[in-house]
Amino acid sequence: MASNGEYGLLIDFEFCSGCHACEVACKTEHRMPEGDFGIHILQDGPRKNSNGTWEYLYLPVPTSLCDLCEERVAAGKLPTCVHHCQAGVMAYGRLADLAAKAGKPTVAIFSR
Ligand code: SF4
Ligand code: SF4
Repeated sequence: MASNGEYGLLIDFEFCSGCHACEVACKTEHRMPEGDFGIHILQDGPRKNSNGTWEYLYLPVPTSLCDLCEERVAAGKLPTCVHHCQAGVMAYGRLADLAAKAGKPTVAIFSR
């Protein structure tokens, strides 16, 4: 595996529980100081729309500090956020392969 622009992360935030495990795993792996994040969990809601429906979701967003876990990937391991997400929200792979799985509105693909 490699992270040279052909590879990226697929994030299906429909299933994100907001547990922050990916955030903590990333900060620990990269020994990031307080305030820095390689991936950050944003939250929308709970709030009621004018039509009576509700918005309540968590959105994991890789930041400019994400290096797609270069060292782990070079050693044949998965990025630590992918490894620690028990909800299976994230996948790592070739962009072409990830794009084939991206046919729903809650899926985002990230690369560098
Ligand atoms: S791929 Fe690695 S560096 Fe990027 S968000 Fe995930 S854990 Fe952090
Ligand atoms: S992406 Fe996974 S590990 Fe990260 S907050 Fe969502 S459910 Fe938790």
